[in-house]
Amino acid sequence: MDTYYAVTSGTCSSSGKWSGQVTVTWNSTGSSGLTTAQLRMVAVHEFGHVLGLAHVSRTCSDTKSVMVQGTTKWTCDWGNDDPWADDVKGVNAIY
Ligand SMILES: [Zn+2]
Repeated sequence: MDTYYAVTSGTCSSSGKWSGQVTVTWNSTGSSGLTTAQLRMVAVHEFGHVLGLAHVSRTCSDTKSVMVQGTTKWTCDWGNDDPWADDVKGVNAIY
């Protein structure tokens, strides 16, 4: 099944951080039709997971976050300057 662009996997610790090795698997088949900006956003999203961020549920009128799952963030006209302030705030809360 090639419906995902990339996936991050590993073992989570109780603090929300990963314990040990973290693997990002890039699906070159699933992501083959994406633009450069979209590919970048997928990579930043997965790196957010590496840093311990989970998915968030947002609409286009909400605070911008690269951690929105799926393609909603591409249609919101949020720009390509991700990670956004809310993402950085989340990482700062973890570390
Ligand atoms: Zn994700």
